Amino acid sequence: MKILVPVKRVVDYNVKVRVKPDQTGVDLANVKMSMNPFCEIAVEEAIRMKEKGVAEEIVAVSIGPAQAQETIRTALAMGADRGIHVTTDQTVEPLAVAKILAKVVEEESPELVILGKQAIDDDSNATGQMLAALLGWPQATFASEVEKDGDGFKVTREIDGGLQTIKVSSPAIITTDLRLNEPRYASLPNIMKAKRKPIDAKTPEDFGVDIAPRLEVLKVTEPPKREAGVKVESVAELVDKLKNEAGVI
Ligand code: AMP
Repeated sequence: MKILVPVKRVVDYNVKVRVKPDQTGVDLANVKMSMNPFCEIAVEEAIRMKEKGVAEEIVAVSIGPAQAQETIRTALAMGADRGIHVTTDQTVEPLAVAKILAKVVEEESPELVILGKQAIDDDSNATGQMLAALLGWPQATFASEVEKDGDGFKVTREIDGGLQTIKVSSPAIITTDLRLNEPRYASLPNIMKAKRKPIDAKTPEDFGVDIAPRLEVLKVTEPPKREAGVKVESVAELVDKLKNEAGVI
């Protein structure tokens, strides 16, 4: 089985992002970038399937600027076999990403595409679903457990109020939730080995995909600052404040 893992380069999750003064987006100058955490979980899951002997090859694909190659190298250092870098300096929205991935799927014929449930920069939570729709493949989103099961996959999904287990036939799309696994760190020897693993260079034009944006960002603003709390001396005081200051009861 071949597994395709799309990986996105995003602002590192530890960075406190700052909105640009003109409110057109967040400031990316000199900001640490890393692989989207949900994509790391997807790479880890693919590697575990390979280690179990369920998968033979893992292909990591990233669509983005020249530096997205580092994100692919991280996937290769974790254990992916080869990479595909679709280079563009433009913003690529989920629909365009999904269209490019659909073309990559056409060329590579994987049995499974495992993606993050969302990229933590734009929080779209759309690419996996759109890809499934474009390909006409079954999708199992927000996976917290994945098992190869005969001609498909048994997937446990995190849903409101509990866990849902479904079976999807292969080829399929799976998107990862936080509790699926804990991604490994790449060891130094594997980082060195990853430098020799091949990365194919492509462009959106090679796939004939129009990546022109369909959305217009009107403005980006900081969330409202959280005000400091107060300590109350008694239940009566709490009730009084809830009634007369907060106006919630
Ligand atoms: P989103 O729908 O943007 O929240 O992203 C969900 C998932 O789609 C990510 O975790 C990635 O697996 C994949 N994805 C989104 N954008 C890209 C990209 N530019 N390159 C590769 N994979 C991507």
